[in-house]
Amino acid sequence: MKTKGGNSLPSIYKCKVCGAYVEHPIHCGRSCILLLNGERRLRLSKLLSAILRHIPHELSISIDEEGWADIQELVYAIKHKWKNRHLYSWLSEEHILAVAILDPKGRFEVRGHSIRARYGHSIKVKIDLPEDDEVKILYHGTQLDKLSSILKEGIKPMRRIKVHLTKSIEEAIENAMRKGKHPVILVIDANLLRNMGHKVFKAGKNVYVTDYVPPQCIKEVRYIN
Ligand SMILES: [Zn+2]
Repeated sequence: MKTKGGNSLPSIYKCKVCGAYVEHPIHCGRSCILLLNGERRLRLSKLLSAILRHIPHELSISIDEEGWADIQELVYAIKHKWKNRHLYSWLSEEHILAVAILDPKGRFEVRGHSIRARYGHSIKVKIDLPEDDEVKILYHGTQLDKLSSILKEGIKPMRRIKVHLTKSIEEAIENAMRKGKHPVILVIDANLLRNMGHKVFKAGKNVYVTDYVPPQCIKEVRYIN
């Protein structure tokens, strides 16, 4: 199976007519301005995820208890305090907005002049995500060497504060492959999970979080390769 592995993203353009951020060089019948090439976009997206989820303190960025950071402050901190600031001399608020709005997985949320990561934090934040009672099957990508302990003890949050699941098998495979050489996919019965008292929250386009997945909720193990 071919996976993107998160290693490439399309460029982002800005429409000269309507001002929309788009992934196609033509909009409203006119050619657009190139805002971010794919390489800069990917680099900025990874940095934003890292800062908003894990390391705001490394750039002295203040994040409130709900995970919000001021976009102007972020731009300033990346350009002046980040160790790789030389790679971001071009950065403006607009680049951060465009990356957040067009994120393929819905990793970010923008409100006024603030931005936050919707999921994946290791810093302590309180994010009210909508509870989901519709999704029936969820997937979790892991590695073969973790399997026996997971089947005994269930899926625990580890470094992150919540357990991350996805309704997309492709994304689960990507996640599993990123973790090592022997990817394994766990198929999870979301209804049983809820019935056992573990609420399921929708966090991104395909990402769902919960506090813990008991072993009984793992309906199937799929070995990749
Ligand atoms: Zn347009």
